[in-house]
Amino acid sequence: MKRTDLVVVGGGIVGTVAALSVAEAGGSVRVLDSGENAGSDANAGSLHVQLQSRFIRLFPEKAPNVEASLPLYLRAVALWDNLEARFGPFQMVRNGGLMLAETTEQLRFLETKAAREAQHGLNVEILDRSGLESLAPFLGQHILGAELCRDEGKLNPLHANARLKAAAQQAGVVFTRATVRAVRKSGAGLQVQTLDGAECSAEQVILANGWGAGALTRGMNLHVPVEAEALHMNITEAGDTKIDHLIQHAERSITLKQFQTGQIVIGGGWPAKGRGLRVPEVLPESLLGNVALAGRLVPSLAGLRVLRTWAGVNTTADGRSILGRLPDCPGVIVAVPGDAGYTLGPLVGQAAARISAGHDASEDFPGCTPLRFAS
Ligand SMILES: Cc1cc2nc3c(=O)[nH]c(=O)nc-3n(C[C@H](O)[C@H](O)[C@H](O)COP(=O)(O)OP(=O)(O)OC[C@H]3O[C@@H](n4cnc5c(N)ncnc54)[C@H](O)[C@@H]3O)c2cc1C
Repeated sequence: MKRTDLVVVGGGIVGTVAALSVAEAGGSVRVLDSGENAGSDANAGSLHVQLQSRFIRLFPEKAPNVEASLPLYLRAVALWDNLEARFGPFQMVRNGGLMLAETTEQLRFLETKAAREAQHGLNVEILDRSGLESLAPFLGQHILGAELCRDEGKLNPLHANARLKAAAQQAGVVFTRATVRAVRKSGAGLQVQTLDGAECSAEQVILANGWGAGALTRGMNLHVPVEAEALHMNITEAGDTKIDHLIQHAERSITLKQFQTGQIVIGGGWPAKGRGLRVPEVLPESLLGNVALAGRLVPSLAGLRVLRTWAGVNTTADGRSILGRLPDCPGVIVAVPGDAGYTLGPLVGQAAARISAGHDASEDFPGCTPLRFAS
């Protein structure tokens, strides 16, 4: 392989947008992607902004980091608006998101959450049942109220991925299927070695390989503690009910949205069975539990057939993005988006591109430096 200004490891949403940004600025970029388990190919297309109850419940120790990152989510959805205008359509809609409460306790939880989120600049409001009637008359009668976050939205990630990749290729980015085994310092630059024995040299490397970033940083005196999390998804046939919003629940794991085709995408973090580098296995209990919950919240969905289920690999860390140069190997830039990583992906990808051009992103991404993992 030839010498390149920049090698991006990982061709998910972060790597693709990073590469596109550098190429548009005139840099030569090569993306190396192993083609395995990209969260960007498996995700639900929810543009998240409000704190997800699932995250607070499952990872309470990480919730403060996500809360501190809320302003990033606002910037991330504004960037998605911009990308949709330049490279879309991605079937993107930003009508807001509703987080539902079935009990007064859940409603109180949402009130407290909304008050905290408003302090970070989110456009949030608590709706009682009568307030919900005009926005979402299809909800089950037992739904007492909801938090409406007007900043949220949804898109079709398959459209967004394809269009952004095409734009990057048009700007000159070369995508190659290869698994990177190691990145090493070599003179003033870096040597990138792939599993098939090939090597290429680059001035800089962006590690945008999500769950795979930990293995590549291990030899660089700073281990980035990313973990793979296998998650379940479903999509139904088209339904008659018109659902404008992204729907979530105050206590249960669910995201539910409608694509332009009328199909309902149901997910929200039900587990799948991880199988290392192989695609995760769908668990019947996740399929049944996830769609049963959807049918309880939106009764008209109960008659729809599930056309497809799948499982994909999410990347988790400590709740914040991981973004910045490695101290012992400053040519290497880590770019891992954090919770709701598809939403944050373009923002983190663009920032990684700016860092590669010599800018300092630490003010725009407070607390996100990989230095926090230096022991
Ligand atoms: C089922 C599911 C639903 C989700 N739903 C949402 C949602 O609705 N909204 C949201 O905001 N987020 C969602 N997420 C999270 C989101 O998809 C991810 O956080 C995001 O896509 C991560 O993007 P990325 O570019 O950092 O990494 P990825 O998209 O995971 O891409 C990383 C790429 O790096 C490659 N790679 C890894 N190691 C190497 C190596 N050594 N050499 C070469 N290539 C390598 C992988 O093969 C992969 O292609 C969901 C995740 C899952 C699994």
